[in-house]
Amino acid sequence: MEDCIFCRIAQGEMDAKILYSDEEVVAFQDINPQAPVHFLVIPRKHLHSAFQLGEEDQHLLYKIFHVIREISREKGIDQEGVRILTNVAPGAGQSVFHLHFHALGGRRMLWPPG
Ligand code: 5GP
Ligand code: ZN
Repeated sequence: MEDCIFCRIAQGEMDAKILYSDEEVVAFQDINPQAPVHFLVIPRKHLHSAFQLGEEDQHLLYKIFHVIREISREKGIDQEGVRILTNVAPGAGQSVFHLHFHALGGRRMLWPPG
């Protein structure tokens, strides 16, 4: 999709610190990390948010969580704890309208989130 920064990152048209990439998903460091480890995992397919996921996207969801687990292992945070979240709509904090899952770790996470 034009003018979508995450589509542009996925297509290599915009710089990002890529952690993993294949034909379906891309993982990269968040530009404004909120924890010692903070990366994003996105589908290459442009979906506005999690509410646009369809039944045909079930594999994509598995894949995203699989990639989060593998990167968390590589970064050594899989045992101590990883916060995985996706914001839907601005009221929840969504600011980029291409589905992405945040993975945060390396520090104690608070609950409830702000
Ligand atoms: P949201 O607020 O939509 O849940 O999350 C968007 C996330 O994307 C934010 O954590 C923000 O720091 C990150 N972000 C926004 N623009 C860029 C960018 O150009 N590159 C990277 N790597 N991350 C970005
Ligand atoms: Zn997009």
